[in-house]
Amino acid sequence: MTFQDHNTSTGHLLIFLEDWLVTLDMLLFFILGLFVHFVFFGSIFDIYFTSPLVHGMTPQFTPLPPPAKRLVLFVADGLRADTLYELDENGNSRAPFIRNIIMHEGSWGLSHTRVPTESRPGHVALIAGFYEDVSAVAKGWKENPVEFDSLINESKYTWSWGSPDILTMFAKGAYGDHVFTYTYDADSEDFGAHDVTKLDTWVFDKVKEFFHAARNNQSLFSKLNEEKIVFFLHLLGIDTNGHAHRPSSREYKDNIKLVDAGMKEMVSILEHFYGNDGKTAFIFTSDHGMTDWGSHGAGHPSETLTPFVTWGAGIKYPQKVSAQKFDDAFLKEWRLESWKRQDIHQADIAPLMASLIGVPFPLNSVGILPVDYLNNTDLFKAESMFTNAIQILEQFKVKMTQKKEVTLPFLFIPFKLLPESKQLNIVRKARSYIKQRKYDEAVSLCKELIHLALKGLSYYHTYDRFFLAINVVLGFLGWTSYAFLLIIKSHFNLTRGVNKEVKKPSHLLSCSCIAIGVFVAFFLLLQDCPWTYYIYCLLPVPIWYAVLREFQVIQDFVTLLLTVPPSYFVGYLLVFILGIEILVLSFFYRYMLTAGLLAFAGWPFITQLWTRAKSISLSWIFFSLLLAAFPLMPVVGRKPDIFLVMGAGLLVLLLSLCVLTSLIKRKDSFINEELLLHLFQMLSVVLSMCVTYSTHSSLRKKQGLPLLNQIISWLILAFSLVLPLLSPTSLFERLFSILLSLMSTYILLSTGYEALFPLVLSCLMFVWIQVEQETLQQRGISCKQKVTSVRFTCSTDITQFRQLYLDDVRRAFFLVFFLVTAFFGTGNIASVNSFDLASVYCFLTVFSPFMMGALMMWKILIPFVLVMCAFEAVQLTTQLSSKSISHYVIVMSMTIVLVFLNGLAHLLTTKKLRLCGKPKSHLI
Ligand SMILES: [Zn+2]
Ligand SMILES: [Zn+2]
Repeated sequence: MTFQDHNTSTGHLLIFLEDWLVTLDMLLFFILGLFVHFVFFGSIFDIYFTSPLVHGMTPQFTPLPPPAKRLVLFVADGLRADTLYELDENGNSRAPFIRNIIMHEGSWGLSHTRVPTESRPGHVALIAGFYEDVSAVAKGWKENPVEFDSLINESKYTWSWGSPDILTMFAKGAYGDHVFTYTYDADSEDFGAHDVTKLDTWVFDKVKEFFHAARNNQSLFSKLNEEKIVFFLHLLGIDTNGHAHRPSSREYKDNIKLVDAGMKEMVSILEHFYGNDGKTAFIFTSDHGMTDWGSHGAGHPSETLTPFVTWGAGIKYPQKVSAQKFDDAFLKEWRLESWKRQDIHQADIAPLMASLIGVPFPLNSVGILPVDYLNNTDLFKAESMFTNAIQILEQFKVKMTQKKEVTLPFLFIPFKLLPESKQLNIVRKARSYIKQRKYDEAVSLCKELIHLALKGLSYYHTYDRFFLAINVVLGFLGWTSYAFLLIIKSHFNLTRGVNKEVKKPSHLLSCSCIAIGVFVAFFLLLQDCPWTYYIYCLLPVPIWYAVLREFQVIQDFVTLLLTVPPSYFVGYLLVFILGIEILVLSFFYRYMLTAGLLAFAGWPFITQLWTRAKSISLSWIFFSLLLAAFPLMPVVGRKPDIFLVMGAGLLVLLLSLCVLTSLIKRKDSFINEELLLHLFQMLSVVLSMCVTYSTHSSLRKKQGLPLLNQIISWLILAFSLVLPLLSPTSLFERLFSILLSLMSTYILLSTGYEALFPLVLSCLMFVWIQVEQETLQQRGISCKQKVTSVRFTCSTDITQFRQLYLDDVRRAFFLVFFLVTAFFGTGNIASVNSFDLASVYCFLTVFSPFMMGALMMWKILIPFVLVMCAFEAVQLTTQLSSKSISHYVIVMSMTIVLVFLNGLAHLLTTKKLRLCGKPKSHLI
C-alpha cells in the first residue's frame, strides 16, 4: 500500500466520520424533538381532559315522602330518537306500546347526550348524573377510572339484566351486597351471530323467570317489597343490529318492535306482581343514538338525540298543547304536535330517578332536576330543587377547598360570581321562600344557584389551565428558536472570520438556569402539584438554556439583519406574520384557504415572474383560482354526486392522453415498456370509474357490494402502490405516473366533487415546480437542466448545493400552506362527522372500524403525498441540500404542530359545543 493510498483512505474515513457525526447529530436532534413534541402533546390531555370528580360531599335528599316505591329503567342501547318516534311507511308506529304511553299515560321528550356518544359515558350520565370525560377513552371505557356514586349505589336493592360490560361497571362501585346482576357471556355479543335480538329476548325471559321464582322465595319476595328499589333492563340488541345492518335496516327496525312488545309484557308482569299498587315509576331511554352508517361516538344529532319516555308513579300525565316551543320539524314529522314535548339533558335523568324513589342524589351528579316532569305538590318540587341546589353547591365547595389547599394563599384567585356570602344569601332566601309558600320563586332561585355553582365548578376545574398553557407555549417557542438557530448556524457561516476562538458559555448563564429550575421545582413542591406539572414547567428551562448558549449566533444574526434595509425587513416580517395568521385561521375557517390561494394567484405580479414568463404565470393564476374554489364547497360527503366523480376520471384520462402524445412526439424512440405502463395505468383509471359507478348503482338498488367490484378495488389499490415505481425516474414522467396511480384509488374513495381536488392540486403543483425554477433563474443562478430533463436519483451531487436564500423561507411557507390546503381543502377534519363512510363502500360494506379508518386515512393522505412529491421535485430543481431539507421539515412540522396546538387551545378555550342546546333542525 502506498502512502498516497493510505492518505486517501484516511480522507475517506474522515469524511465518513464527519458524515456519521452529522447523522448522529441529526438523529439526536430528531429524538429530542420527538420527545418535546410528545411531552407537549401529552400536556393537552393533562390540561384539558382531566377528571372533574371530587370526593367528600355529604349525601343530600329531599325530606318528603317520595311518590314511587320502585323504579324500572329500560335502556335500549343505541336507539336513535327518530327511528323510535317516527311512523313507518304505512303510518303505523314501530313502537305502539311506547306511543300509547306518550298519548295516554306519561311524559316524553328528547334526551340530549354529550360526546363521546359511547355506551359507558352514556350510562354514567344516565345513572350517575355526570359526563365522563375523554380521559376515560384511554382506559377503553371498560373499568372505572375513578370511583363514583350512582343511583344504583344509593338504592336499597338493584336487580339488573343485560350486557356484562355495562352492568359490572355499576355493581363494582357499589358498596355492600345490594346490587344483583344477571349477564350473558361477553361472547354472545357477536355481530355476525345469526339473530342478535336474542340479547333482548334473553333479558325479557330472565326477568319473567325472576318474578316467577320470587313468588316461591320468601327472602326475595320481601326484598322486592322494600322501598327505594331499582330494576335495570339493559337491551343491547338494537345497538348490535345497528352496527351490523345500519339503522335504516329492517333488522334494526324489527328489533325496536321486539323491544316495544317485550316492554309491554314486562310492565304487565310487574304491575301484576305488585297488584297495580301505582307505586312503580318507569323510564325508557337509550344511552346514545347511531349514525346512518352504523357507528356512534361523535356529536352528530343522529348520535346525540335519544328518546326519553317516562310514566307511572310521580310522573305527569300527557299534556295536550296547541303550540310547542320547538322550532325543529320533528313534532310534525312524528305526528306528536299536540303532546307536550319536554327535552332534557342526559344527566338530568339521574336526579329525576333519585327524587322519584326518594334516594340521595348521586354525589357527583351535575344533572338538574326536570321539575316539569313531576306530578307532585309544589312543595315537593321546591324541596327537591332545593336539595338539587345544595347537592351541586357541595361539590363546588369541596372543589374550591381542594384548590385553595394546594395553592399558595397570595396566588389564590377565588371564583368571583359565587362568594360565600352570596351562597349563604341564596340558600337562606330559598328556604324562606319555601316557608312562605312562594314555590315558583324558590325553584327559580335554586336554578340560579345551580347555574352559578356549575360555572364555579368548571372554573376551579380549569384553574391551572392558563398557567400550564403559558409554560407549554414557552417551551415550544424555545424549541422553535433552537431549531431556527441550528439552521442559521449551519447555513449562514456567520461566526467564521469574525472571531475564530469559540467563546465558552458563561457560568452565569448555567448557574441562573439551575437556580430558575430549583426555584420552579420548589414552587411546584409547595403547591403539591402532580408529577407531570414538573415536566411541563421544567422542560422549558434546558431548552432556553440551549438557545441562550448560542447567544453569539443570535447577535451575529441580528447584526446581519441590521444590514438589511429596515423597510425590507419590516415588509418581510409583516408578510410572514400575515402568512402564519392565515394558516392558523384556516384551521377553523376553511374559506381562509381561499383567501390565501387568491393571494397566491396575485403573487406573480409582485415578482418579476409576470414579465419573464407569461404562460407559466397565467397557468399559476388559473390553477390557484381553481383550487381556491374547493374550500368554499360543503364538507365531503354532504352532497354525493357520482357524476362529478366520473367527470374527474374523464379529465384524468384526457390529461393522460395529452401527456402520452407529447411524450411520443418528444421521444422518437418511445420505449415499449413505458408505453405499456402508461396504458395500463389509464386502464386502471377506467376500471376504477366503472367500479365506482356500478357499486353506486348496485347500492342504490340495495343489492349490496358485488364481489367482483370489491376484488377489483383492492387490486387497484395494491397496484397503485407498485406501478409508479416501474415508471422512468425522469421527473415529469414519474410525477405523472404517481398522479395516475393515486387518482385511480382516489376515484374509488370519492363520493362527490372531492374527486376533482387532487387533480387540480397536482396541476398547481406541477406549475409550482416550474415557477420555482424560474425564480431561481431570476436570481442569476445558472440552471443547467430543464424541468423535463431532471431525474429523481438517490445519490445527488453534493457540490451542486447552494446556500440558503430568503426565497427558501418562502418555499417552506408555500409547502406548509399547500399541505394545509391538501388537508383542509375538502374539509376532512372540519367536523368529525364528515367522515362519510359511504366513500369506502367500494372496498367493504361490513362495519369494520379498523379497515374503514385505514382507508379513510389513505384518502386523506393522497393529496399530502402529491404535495410532498412536488416538493421533492422543487428541492431537486432548486438544488437545495438534503440537510437543509431535513431541517426544513423539522421546522415546518414544528410550525404545523405549533399552529395546530395554538388552534386546539383556541378551540378548547373559546368554542362551546352546542350538544345540549337547541336541537338541530333535522336528523340525517
Ligand atoms: Zn351503547
Ligand atoms: Zn354500539
